[in-house]
Amino acid sequence: MAHFNYLCSSLQDELKKIAEAICAPGKGILAADESVSTMGKRLKDIGVENTEENRRLYRQLLFTTDKEVSNYISGVILFHETVYQKTDNGTLFVDELKSRGIIPGIKVDLGVVPLSGTEDECTTQGLDDLAQRCAQYKKDGCHFAKWRCVLKIGKNTPSYQSMMENANVLARYASICQANRIVPIVEPEILPDGDHDIERCQKVTETVLSFVYKALQDHHVYLEGTLLKPNMVTPGQSAAARATAEQIALSTVTALHRTVPPAVTGVVFLSGGQSEEEATVNLSAINNAPVKHPWALTFSYGRALQASVLRAWSGKVENVKKAQDELINRAKANSLASLGKYQAGSIKSAAGEQGLHIANHAY
Ligand code: 13P
Repeated sequence: MAHFNYLCSSLQDELKKIAEAICAPGKGILAADESVSTMGKRLKDIGVENTEENRRLYRQLLFTTDKEVSNYISGVILFHETVYQKTDNGTLFVDELKSRGIIPGIKVDLGVVPLSGTEDECTTQGLDDLAQRCAQYKKDGCHFAKWRCVLKIGKNTPSYQSMMENANVLARYASICQANRIVPIVEPEILPDGDHDIERCQKVTETVLSFVYKALQDHHVYLEGTLLKPNMVTPGQSAAARATAEQIALSTVTALHRTVPPAVTGVVFLSGGQSEEEATVNLSAINNAPVKHPWALTFSYGRALQASVLRAWSGKVENVKKAQDELINRAKANSLASLGKYQAGSIKSAAGEQGLHIANHAY
């Protein structure tokens, strides 16, 4: 019989409360944790130079949006640099978010590296000093974290090696976060790249999630104090046959129902290159899928919450308000979707139907 200790009950309570606050009905997460280089790509698209000041101005725009946004957004994932940046009037972004009742979170992985002996698969690094970094981030006001692992669907992938390795590194990360009073978002993203059908994506998602929850159990992770950030189950980006929102919803919730323990507090989907409108319509369909689901099913979108904002802003101070209105619109649309109440096409946005897919996406 394995010997281990559960986390003490006050720590369990703290973690569970944070996870539940993030998944409060009608709320979800804004992922604004783009690394410096990824932010550079987003800024380049709108003709803005990738300087620290421009990144600060952009994040300031996001985080000073009218308080209405906190009806829809419960948490924001930050990048390291952003945790220590301030608004024009000297308020830390972290405090700006707190004053709106929004919980700051932090991306703690250090990016993907190749896995030798595989067909172009990868793992994610950043464990070495993770405990110290988590302790510091907690002091600095971050109460949840994100770590992204990437799995790829190919003829022979994902391999046993990559599923094993990525599940284990996610479990180690989750365990270290919890010991430092931080709720881990566990993100095993299966990329949408490829021409596979929706059935293949469903089977791969089920297999990957099974590895992940076995590893979380092996590492004694307290599931109530975790969130899962999965891909939706869809056909590959270049597949011949597209799927309806209802098909995506049924395949997605079926895969989760078969593999995610009921103790997990919430599932917060990534948008994975779907257009803003698609990501919203699919989330609403997921919440109406005819399959039991004991967890909250909500959003943790990056591209699908920011594409219209970036386009409306275009780096110009006179567009800040217009861009913030785009954020409120998309946040409200996704809030409705997380309650299964979004009517397709009912909330328009600047980048609405535009596909946001990036091949072999890095974050
Ligand atoms: P997308 O919603 O743009 O896929 O990004 C979410 C995220 O945080 C990926 O790690």
